[in-house]
Amino acid sequence: MRILVTNDDGIQSPGIAALAKALAAIGEVWIVAPDRERTAVAHAVTLHKPLRLHQLSSRTYAVNGTPVDCVNLALLKVMPKPPAIVVSGINKGVNLGDDVLYSGTVSAAMEGTILGIPSVAVSQEGQEAFRFEIGALYAARVTRLVLAHGLPEETLLNVNIPDRPRGGMRGVRVTCLSRRRFDNPIIEKLDPHGRKYYWIAGQRVSWSRSKDADHEAIEEGFVSITPIRLDSTHHGVLDHFRAWEPIMNRGIKKSQSLERRSRRTGQREA
Ligand code: MN
Repeated sequence: MRILVTNDDGIQSPGIAALAKALAAIGEVWIVAPDRERTAVAHAVTLHKPLRLHQLSSRTYAVNGTPVDCVNLALLKVMPKPPAIVVSGINKGVNLGDDVLYSGTVSAAMEGTILGIPSVAVSQEGQEAFRFEIGALYAARVTRLVLAHGLPEETLLNVNIPDRPRGGMRGVRVTCLSRRRFDNPIIEKLDPHGRKYYWIAGQRVSWSRSKDADHEAIEEGFVSITPIRLDSTHHGVLDHFRAWEPIMNRGIKKSQSLERRSRRTGQREA
């Protein structure tokens, strides 16, 4: 049973080491990960420079690319056969709510899903120190369940671990994505020449306070597991926007019939 492990914190991160160690008890672990930190690159793909694979040991490779590059290279070039699962992480810091739109950790799992492999992203709450041994324990549990039962089509799991000692964990909760945004996200300062520069930073705030939200679960000491699907179509509003079709189509039918007529008569449209 082959397992692909990747991340966005880079191959040197203790988070990926803890994950690979825990998953080695379940299957044959292959690591293909960025050669440096690529946090918040989301679903970026490298198109304008060559990618290099740097083999560090028999089944461990560093790539000068993004997490999504790594998953593609691993599945299509590096591994002799596709893995049974892709596990991305363990990320330094949670990926809750809107974070999943920016996260390289989640995007790696998303890419695995796109390529038809059951995939899981694992992220951990913490500041300086991270209790990766606890995150790895839950990552291994989720991995075993996914290997045993599979995942629904087009669905990945986003797992987040609260920063608590093993005895302080309150359990596991299946959650929805919360809405989390940044307060004062852009910091303006002056450089030594007196010119303005900007730094994207700021404090995260949450304003969905529902019991089933991922953010609440972490705050209350639960491991959060959110099923995410690739299709982000808002099916509930399709009819609302279909009512716009005739307005946007105004004049189109007329010009199409004019075009047909001019084609029939062999004349060029003005
Ligand atoms: Mn990261």
